Amino acid sequence: MTKLNFAIIGLVALATACGEGPEPQTIPETTQDQEPTDPVETEVWTPVPDKVDPFGQNGAPSDAIVLFDGSNLDQWISATDSTAAKWIINPDSSMTVANGTGDIQTKDNFGSVQLHVEWRSSPENIASGQAKSNSGVYLQNRYEVQVLDNNDNPTYVNGMVGSLYKQSPPLVMASVPTGSWNTYDIIYHAPEFDAEGAMVIAPKITVLHNGILIQDNFSLQGTTEYIGWPKVNAHGPGPIKLQDHNDHSGVSYRNIWVRPLN
Ligand code: MG
Repeated sequence: MTKLNFAIIGLVALATACGEGPEPQTIPETTQDQEPTDPVETEVWTPVPDKVDPFGQNGAPSDAIVLFDGSNLDQWISATDSTAAKWIINPDSSMTVANGTGDIQTKDNFGSVQLHVEWRSSPENIASGQAKSNSGVYLQNRYEVQVLDNNDNPTYVNGMVGSLYKQSPPLVMASVPTGSWNTYDIIYHAPEFDAEGAMVIAPKITVLHNGILIQDNFSLQGTTEYIGWPKVNAHGPGPIKLQDHNDHSGVSYRNIWVRPLN
């Protein structure tokens, strides 16, 4: 920001602050060559950020869209055929993948979001590698944040828990013990495409796993493919999707909410 811009903002702030804060004694004359000497000149009073209750909806922020609170799957459909989601709702307000019924996705489409998801690997799942409690959280139906039980279970690191599948290993492995609840807090910025469909701004993902930074504003190259290189196909808003890996993962989810950004 230039000194001139800063000065303009300061003057606007002074003009709009009247009645909302301390009355300035004088409006200082500021030029591009003069650094402000009065702290009031660099104060900004408007617009005032909206007030949010962080725990306003049974633990979800008051301005969030609650996607799953344990009561129903009304916000979700089958990703296979758009019929009602068939995963299992449990008495503890979680849901579990119903093996073989397919991925589920939100009815609504989203662009850039803050997304909160809690997930739990299954103690009954004693498989190894990619078969041990494999699921995933997809942004815009294409970009997977891997869910996997990596406790005493090595696998390729760009496919381990918290990886952006086949593109970015997590910075650290921050899982809780098998069977305990993990949290993912994901900040996702949607990509932008030009008229020819070329990606001019890559999708960017930040992930906190149990509060630990594991993906730091990573720029994806394209889709997170199982086989082959990332693909770039222009797209608009898309659903959030949860994966049925179709190998009796037993993975459960709870407390899912989203805050659209922009
Ligand atoms: Mg997966």
